[in-house]
Amino acid sequence: MIKVRNIHKTFGDNPVLRGIDLDIEKGQVVVILGPSGSGKTTFLRCLNALELPEQGTIEFQNSDPLFIDFASKSVKKEILALRRKSGMVFQQYNLFPHKTALENVMEGPIQVQKRDPKVVQEEAIALLSKVGLADKINLYPYQLSGGQQQRVGIARALAIQPELMLFDEPTSALDPELVQDVLNTMKTLANEGWTMVVVTHEIKFALDVADKVVVMDHGQIVEQGSPEQLFKHPQHERTKAFLHQIR
Ligand code: ATP
Repeated sequence: MIKVRNIHKTFGDNPVLRGIDLDIEKGQVVVILGPSGSGKTTFLRCLNALELPEQGTIEFQNSDPLFIDFASKSVKKEILALRRKSGMVFQQYNLFPHKTALENVMEGPIQVQKRDPKVVQEEAIALLSKVGLADKINLYPYQLSGGQQQRVGIARALAIQPELMLFDEPTSALDPELVQDVLNTMKTLANEGWTMVVVTHEIKFALDVADKVVVMDHGQIVEQGSPEQLFKHPQHERTKAFLHQIR
């Protein structure tokens, strides 16, 4: 279980996150929905310390436990540990343009984790096969479609063997006909038991795959529950307004 408590993040005088609490069970898929500017991306980035909250705690309760209190002064070691525990998939893929698909996937385990390149290469080929790109491993990002690049992005995040996979609107930069391939890849990961937090506007994905749907508004979680509960019986006025807007 991952326990997130009281996360606060302010940019300048803009309080973007105002006390976020969230429990993420092992193997759970949590989908975060909410209006533009509600803080979804910022929250996701806090979950792997790409943004540092001023306040709040994140706790991994498992065989390799981690507790990080962002208000405390000396959290450098914990921040590095948190980054090693989570793999991030970005909206704009963020691949290295001068590296092949295979080199992109191998980069983290070799450069950051200092693992044996031979083993890493075998694993990277297996991961690229898993996301349907076995025949593309030696191509550069510019030679791949957006959907293929994003699947390289997913393989790259998986390569560090994270405990938590974070997806930041992974399909929103894609042409509509490429969206499904990426969603299918994510569905496969969910079925394999990966723990995932996904910011998306894909309601059907949320309905089919999520264990828990969280609605954010103005830097707070206004409602959370099963997809069934949340989509069919939303309780909060802001959830109702948001769902009405996107349907
Ligand atoms: P969207 O659905 O449009 O991506 P979001 O819910 O993901 O929106 P965030 O991207 O988290 O929202 O942004 C929340 C607020 O934080 C916005 O007002 C945004 O301008 C502000 N913000 C985000 N990142 C920064 C930053 N690095 N510096 C200053 N302000 C930021």
